[in-house]
Order: sequence, then C-alpha cells, then structure tokens
Amino acid sequence: MTDQSASSTLVEPAAEPAEILKIAEQRLLVDRERITIDEALQIQALPDDQLAHLADLAHRVRLDYCGESVGMASIISGKTGGCPEDCNFCSQSSTFGSDVAPTGFIPPEQLLAAAEATAATNATEFCIVYAVRGPDERLMDHVLECTKLVYDNVPGLDVACSLGLLTRDQAYALADAGVHRYNHNLEAPQSFFDRVCTTHTWEDRRKTCELVVETGMQLCSGGIIGLGETREQRVEFAFQLADLDPCEVPMNFLNPRPGTPMADNELVSPTEAIRTIALFRLAMPGVTLRYAGGREVTLGDLQAMGLKSGINAMITGNYLTTLGQTVDTDLAMLEDLKMPVTAASRVL
Ligand code: SF4
Repeated sequence: MTDQSASSTLVEPAAEPAEILKIAEQRLLVDRERITIDEALQIQALPDDQLAHLADLAHRVRLDYCGESVGMASIISGKTGGCPEDCNFCSQSSTFGSDVAPTGFIPPEQLLAAAEATAATNATEFCIVYAVRGPDERLMDHVLECTKLVYDNVPGLDVACSLGLLTRDQAYALADAGVHRYNHNLEAPQSFFDRVCTTHTWEDRRKTCELVVETGMQLCSGGIIGLGETREQRVEFAFQLADLDPCEVPMNFLNPRPGTPMADNELVSPTEAIRTIALFRLAMPGVTLRYAGGREVTLGDLQAMGLKSGINAMITGNYLTTLGQTVDTDLAMLEDLKMPVTAASRVL
C-alpha cells in the first residue's frame, strides 16, 4: 500500500486557488465560523504550488485562535504490549509477531514518583496510558488508586488517562475521581476503519469519546495519518473529529512497525503531511493540535514547517514503542522559530 492513494482520487478545484483560500480566510478569521466540508475538500485538492499559501493561512488561524505558544508533553507507557485488539498499525497488539514485550501495570509508588518528578518540571498535567482494549475491574481499581495517590500527594497536577474503551459506569467513575482529561483516538476515518481493525468498531471508539464529553472530562482524540486513507477520507476524518469537539487532537503519522500488517506501508510524503496538518487546523481552528508519533521520520527537516502550518503542541522525547527526537532538539527548534513553550505535561 502506498501513499499514492492520497492523491489518486483528487477533487478538482471548482474555483481559483486564491479564491478558495480567501473564502476560508473570511470564514475563519473574519466571520469566525467553521469551514464547510465542501470547502475543505477544495482546500485539500489545491495544487502543490499553493502549499505555502495554505500553510500560511493555517498558521495565522492557529495564532488567532490559540496564540503563539507551543505545549510540550512527554510519554512513558505504564503498560506496554499484550493488547488483545488487532489494530493493524500497532506493535502493542498481541495478535501480530511484533517484538514489543508485554509488561505489567506500573506499581503505584513508581507512578507517584513519576508524578512528583513531573510536577517539579512545572507541568500541570500527568497522563496515565495503558495498552488495553478497555479497563477491567483490576485496572479500574489500580487507576483510581493511582489517581487518588497523585491528588493526595502532588498539588497542582491534573490527572489524565488513556485506558481504551469505557462503559458509562467506568467513564463516570473516572470523572468522579477527578480525572481531568481522557485520551481516546478515533484513529482513522469511519469509512476506512474496517481496514484498520476487526476486534472493535469505529462506532465503539466514538461512543467512548461521547461518554467522555458527557461526563465533563476533557476529550483528547486524534489518530494516525498514512494508514492508506485517501485525501478525501482525511477531510472526512477531520470533520468527524471536529464533531466530537475535542480540546486536543494528537496527529500521528504512520511509522510502519515490523511484524504488523502495515509494516510495508510507505511513509506519508512531507508535503502531504504539511497539507494534512493545515487542513486539520482549518477544520478545527481552536483545538490543541499536537505533533505525536512518526513526525520525525515523516517530516524530517520540515518539522519546523509543521509548526508554521497549524501545529501548536508536541509530544517530545520517545513515544510508546518508538524513539523520538530529543527534548533538547525540539526546544532548539522552537527557539529558532521564536515560539514560546508552555508548561510541559507528562504522559506516563
Ligand atoms: S487498542 Fe490500542 S494498544 Fe490495543 S492494538 Fe489497538 S491501538 Fe494498539
């Protein structure tokens, strides 16, 4: 499967490129309305020689809605691998022969030490991530215990978590315990999801996202670009995410993992990645749009351009199962761009 799929079903622009961008600018920066899906399809089909203008508009929208600062977060997995689900991109699935060794739950005292270290960096949020289909009773007990431990001992730190699919009772239990934000990615467009996973549905994922919003927790939901979806499906995906009204959208780019069914996918091209970042910003002008896994191998030297095309937050350091750019390298990039950094948050 190649990234050619992204350009094989292009919508022909119905208007001149300058006019398409002018309409989007009027909507977003003057009328402060969302662009329509038809307008987004026109934007996604702009010729490559318009990419700089598209990126410039997305950057101005980001500055206008979100400001100039960039939020930093780092990730450490609390339980890696051994997941019974079969998401085709994921090396943490036990279904495939990947080389990620399963771990148990992190001991609460170790988690507390990490929370204290996080607070010492002036971070305001601490997120606990587990590779599971959803929490069973044992995991819920563990997470509720850890949440209480952090709140009782580390003032000023909000707890967030990512535990997979939730029941209504579980969602309310987490909200009642004070969990501030819940991460659950839609991962892919609805129309493409049956090529991503067979053990749960896109609707299952959306239902958990809706439950999160219902309980009053903040929703963090994004996905992975480059699974084989078309450009039109990327537009579909951006609007499906926008409909959930998340406060944060992590943008991963597929970094094909050995042993997974998507191991031979080609990387998204750097310019296609920039085009998609800008599209997501225009579709979700006020969201925290966060660089996540795969940005280094996909964008290379164009990572800085992504920060001038709509991105306003980044996961820095290593990801759950892959190595990332160092924190110092990221901070140097932001210094070169003269973009201030907001308090780092940490995902454990
Ligand atoms: S549910 Fe999450 S951890 Fe499990 S296979 Fe899918 S993406 Fe990986």
